[in-house]
Amino acid sequence: MRILVINSGSSSIKFQLLDMEDESLLATGLVEKIGKSEGLLQCTLRPGTDRCRKLRLERPIADHEDGMRLVINLLADPDKGVIRDFTDIDAIGHRVVHGGEYVRHPTLINDELIAIIERISPLAPLHNPANLDGIRVARELFPGIPQVAVFDTAFHQSIPARAYLYALPYEMYERHRIRRYGFHGTSHKYVAGECARLLGRQLGQCNLITIHLGNGCSMTAIEQGLSIDTTLGMTPLEGLVMGTRSGDVDPAIHSFLARNAGMDIEAIDRMLNNDSGLKGLCGMNDMRDIHAAIQTGNERALLALEVQTYRNRKYIGAYLAVLGHVDAIVFTAGIGENDAIVRQKSLTGLEQFGIELDIAANLRCEKEPVLISSANSRIQIWIIPTNEELAIARESLEVFTKGSESMQNQGRLSRDCEFCIAPHPKTGMPIPERLF
Ligand code: AMP
Repeated sequence: MRILVINSGSSSIKFQLLDMEDESLLATGLVEKIGKSEGLLQCTLRPGTDRCRKLRLERPIADHEDGMRLVINLLADPDKGVIRDFTDIDAIGHRVVHGGEYVRHPTLINDELIAIIERISPLAPLHNPANLDGIRVARELFPGIPQVAVFDTAFHQSIPARAYLYALPYEMYERHRIRRYGFHGTSHKYVAGECARLLGRQLGQCNLITIHLGNGCSMTAIEQGLSIDTTLGMTPLEGLVMGTRSGDVDPAIHSFLARNAGMDIEAIDRMLNNDSGLKGLCGMNDMRDIHAAIQTGNERALLALEVQTYRNRKYIGAYLAVLGHVDAIVFTAGIGENDAIVRQKSLTGLEQFGIELDIAANLRCEKEPVLISSANSRIQIWIIPTNEELAIARESLEVFTKGSESMQNQGRLSRDCEFCIAPHPKTGMPIPERLF
């Protein structure tokens, strides 16, 4: 069973082709700068094997369809390709950022689901329309191949109302669906599952704090395998300090800037999303550059590191209080997996809560899970590399298998979607025609 995983952005398509017999990677790549004059396709075929080939193609790529055609041609190239033609692909898994309150599970894509993703788009205007571009193109280019949408928000749909509601007039939630949704759900769920396996337990028996520190950052409190709180909010801006995103700020800063600094709402939004976080504090958003700058005595770089790791520590404390008992803390993503200094500073002073780092183990940097807590630590601390593509492929496979059963039993795919799209949790009403 071969599954193609697609993560379609506004000007890029990330893809991986996996053989689910042994979960091996047949190809991984990225189409970039779609719609610009200098498009780029990079791809590694059969990575990690002695037949590995790295390919790079520079040429204008008109749109997502053009980009996707290049990918198929490459994958099915008679000399170096990994499939004969697209019919060798059994299913396609798409990453979709926002599923709102209604889509709680990975779901087979049909016209009804596409309409729902469209309706939810005002909640993720930069992401959902781009994800839909990828879905539409793939449906056209791969007719008859089942396609599954895997939502970043789905894992967090177990968060209770006391944690997902903001203390705003209740009608803001009722009329505009303003609430915490949370993101990076595929990553949090994947590393939580891996951690449970390493602890030798069922995920449903584990209380975990999972910390995804990449360009985007988030932390999730997981109780008995379910997300019960997470730091990203209605949009991917709240919570931890990120590469270019501010994380938590006093909401009154918006009106202060509008009244006193002549900034309009678009400029404030841009500042918070693109020019804040680590970049806002020290001008750099890559942690490797920040460490290099600290070595040369750059005080702002040191300050940025301090602000980020202090915020991490504050939320670890909050989630210890929320969960009461914690089995393990997991670090993942670009910074979480690679940066010993960030991990150590984020955990400083937490010994009395049963969190003790093994300093030597923390310096290990491997592409596989590493236990970095000391033998005395009551709470285990792990580095677990995330693999969102594999998680999407696994979830797609599960839905595909269920869908095939339902096709045989019911004769139609949408049956599975009816099962997956939950009615509103409070009212039990089916999804409305218009959300906004
Ligand atoms: P991600 O979003 O998970 O791809 O993470 C990207 C971020 O990880 C980059 O912007 C860097 O800040 C950080 N990163 C990647 N490699 C390293 C490394 N070796 N040490 C520290 N930070 C790293």
